[in-house]
Parts: sequence; structure tokens; C-alpha cells
Amino acid sequence: MTDVTTPDAHTRVVEPEVVVIGAGPAGLRAATELARAGTRDVLVLEREREAGGIPRHSDHPGYGMRDLGRFVTGPTYARMLRDKATDAGATILTEAMATDWAGPTSLMVTSPEGRLRVAARAVVLASGARERPRAARAIPGDRAQGVLTTGTLQNIVHLKHGTVGKRAVVVGAELVSWSAVLTLRHAGCRTALMTTTHPHAESYWLFHRPGRIVLKTPVATRTRVTRIMGRPRVEAVEIEDLDTGQRRTVECDTVILTGDWIPDNELARAAGITLDPSSRGPLVDTALRTDRPGIFAAGNVLHPVDTADIAALDGAAVAEHVRGYLEGRQPPSAGARLEVEAPLRWVAPGILRPGDPAPPRRRLLLWTEEYVAVPKVVLEQDGRVVARKRVMWPAAPGRVFRVPADVLDSVDPRGGTVTIRLER
Ligand SMILES: Cc1cc2nc3c(=O)[nH]c(=O)nc-3n(C[C@H](O)[C@H](O)[C@H](O)COP(=O)(O)OP(=O)(O)OC[C@H]3O[C@@H](n4cnc5c(N)ncnc54)[C@H](O)[C@@H]3O)c2cc1C
Repeated sequence: MTDVTTPDAHTRVVEPEVVVIGAGPAGLRAATELARAGTRDVLVLEREREAGGIPRHSDHPGYGMRDLGRFVTGPTYARMLRDKATDAGATILTEAMATDWAGPTSLMVTSPEGRLRVAARAVVLASGARERPRAARAIPGDRAQGVLTTGTLQNIVHLKHGTVGKRAVVVGAELVSWSAVLTLRHAGCRTALMTTTHPHAESYWLFHRPGRIVLKTPVATRTRVTRIMGRPRVEAVEIEDLDTGQRRTVECDTVILTGDWIPDNELARAAGITLDPSSRGPLVDTALRTDRPGIFAAGNVLHPVDTADIAALDGAAVAEHVRGYLEGRQPPSAGARLEVEAPLRWVAPGILRPGDPAPPRRRLLLWTEEYVAVPKVVLEQDGRVVARKRVMWPAAPGRVFRVPADVLDSVDPRGGTVTIRLER
């Protein structure tokens, strides 16, 4: 790593060719591919004590299928990705948090060794997404202890080996919610109820059917938590049936808030990068370029949230485009904007430029607020339907709806905004 003179007594300056923000699956895989392709110096910054991202504290199987062809636990997966990145020659700096920009592709970083200025030629934002805490969800009731997001729960249980309560209510019934149930069980806490506002559990059948039977966890669909009760610790929650308006009290000492994701977009915002107004992640084209030259984004910061293998494969795809940028390839300036209509909430990527490649894995990623069993995806541009495609899998809330990118084949990248909607 080129390490140049200090501009002042407190700031060290390093000049990698590429800096990757975040050592989760997306960042580690991007760094691996960049280093393997011969990029001079690839530096990965990770604010946590260890690299690996969310999988590091998600101690159950379910990782690595599409990218590694394996089915491993989160911590094993994290270790494998970390090893691959360092074996390829990337440098990972942990406890190093990128806090602000010091130039178009330069960042200020705090680390235990002091302040660092990282002046790179290109930046990959791979900072992931987090669950909104209680305050942001406006759940009324007592300010009780024992209300946690899945991220905090897994941090307490798997990293700090701490304890939680004995009886939990999990708010949400998506893939991550079942991960929370497993973690609670590991910590000796029974899940009394999962509650979801949707008419179906949002996770795949493969997860929620065995989950209900093996983990003996009831799922109350079309319900919402209307109040949290207890002081200083949670004692119960009040649940409302959305169809009848009836309310009941469920005793518990722990409440886990799952889903409801927000991208870790602080650096993108600080750089003035255009964000997708719906996902709140950086708006990118199919080559995962943001609207700032030399700044790319990959993983769940773009699509909150998909599985780890999809994030890692974003990382593999972005590496190629970063290489292109370093070699002087310029993106075409204009492109057609992709937008969605309800019940879809967002689409990623959000721009299709002339001559650009298909998105990673040749898939458009979409988020829906309503369940549609056998959806037809319809694209309209400049007042006419340009694509209509029946997809043989459901569009379901709480998980990313992936659509083959050939729906874009008839889109004119020089034309007007493309609107994507679902037909039943
Ligand atoms: C509870 C739970 C269970 C899950 N179970 C599964 C599963 O079974 N299978 C599966 O495939 N997926 C699962 N997922 C999803 C999977 O974990 C994510 O898709 C994946 O981790 C996303 O990778 P990422 O690299 O985009 O982000 P992350 O893994 O979130 O990594 C982002 C990293 O960036 C770092 N970072 C952020 N900002 C900065 C900064 N300014 N400076 C330095 N570092 C920064 C963060 O500390 C973090 O380590 C689960 C997720 C959760 C929450």
C-alpha cells in the first residue's frame, strides 16, 4: 500500500487504487475480484473488529449457495470470504470507519491508530443496510428494556455471548425473522408469537412451514403490535387483528423488531450522490455506477435486503466495472430511468444506459408491498407497453422479487422513464 507523507502531525495518508467501504459479502467479494484482476492496491475498510459483515453474527446455515456452491453457516461463510480476499492480495483494515469525504474519491477514516486519509482512484460503497429501531417505527407504549432489532439480538447472543429474556414476540415473519427465532432459541428464549401485517408469512415456504412445526412458533398474520407494556423491562405487547380490530395481550419479556430496512447511506448522502427516493440507497445504473465518477455501490446498500450470496455476486460484478473505469472507460452520459408503481416500492438498479451490460446475475431486483402469486411484470415507456412477462414465482413482501433482466431488452435506453408494474 502506498503510504505517503503526513499532511499534518495527526493524519496518515494512504493511496490505494481502490477503497472498498464495508467488509461484508459485497465488499469482500469486490475486493477479491479486484485484487485477482491485478488492481494495484485494494483496501477494505471495516468499522467492526472483524471483517465479514452480517453473516459473522448470523450463526445458522443458509449462506453461500449461489456464489460458493456451498451451504454453510454465517460465520463460516464470513471466514471463507475474508480468506479469499486476503489470499487474493487485498488489505482489510478493521476498526476503521470511513466518516467523511476528503475529496471526490478520498475519505477520512478513524481507526485505533488515529486519523487516516485514504486517497483512492475509485471507491466501492458496500456498507450494507440496517433495521430501523423502535423509535423510527413509532410503536406506542412504555420505553421498556428488551426491545431489540435482529442485528442487536445476534450481536448480543453470538458475538458477546450475552443473554436475552425467556419469552419473545418477533415482529415480522420474513427470512430474517426466522433467523431471529433461531438465535432466540440458541439463547434459551422461546418465541411465543410472530406477528405480521401481511396475509402470508413473507419468508419462503421452505422456511416458514418447518419453522412453524419444528420451532413450534405460531405466526399471526394480518396483525400489528399496537402497544409495548412494562417497566423497566417488557412484560407484554398488545396485538391488533387488522381485519376485526380486536386486540389481545401477549405476555413476553423480549420483543424483536425484524425487517424494515434502511441502507447505510450516510457516506453516499455526504457525497451528494443521488439516492433512490424509495429504497434510500444510492441510485445506480446496471454497471453499479453512482452519479459520481469513480464511486460505485454494491450489495444491500442498494437493495435492502437480499441474501448474502446476491450481495457477494454484486461485488463480483462491480469489480469488473471498476476495472473498466480505472482503464479509462467512460460511461455513456444519459440513460433511461427505471421507476415502479405500487404495490412495488423500489427497483435496483434504477438506470439503463445505452451499451451497458445487464445488471448482476441478469436480474432486476424489486420490492413489493403486496403478495401476488403469479405476477405479470409490465414495463411502459413513452406511453406504450414495451415488455410484459409472466414470472412463475410469487412477488412477496419481505423478500426481494427477482425478475430476469430480459424484460429490459425492448427498453430504449435513450428514451423516457420506464415504469414497472405488476399485473395479477
Ligand atoms: C438476521 C439476519 C439473518 C440473515 N440470514 C441470511 C441467510 O441465512 N442467508 C443469506 O444468504 N443471507 C442472510 N441474511 C442477509 C445477509 O446477511 C445480507 O444479505 C448480507 O450480509 C449483505 O451483505 P453486504 O455486504 O451488502 O452488507 P453487510 O453484510 O451488512 O456488510 C456491510 C459492512 O459494512 C460495514 N460498514 C458500514 N459502514 C461503514 C463505514 N462507514 N466504514 C467502515 N465500515 C462500514 C459494516 O460494519 C458491515 O460489516 C441475513 C441477514 C440478517 C440481518
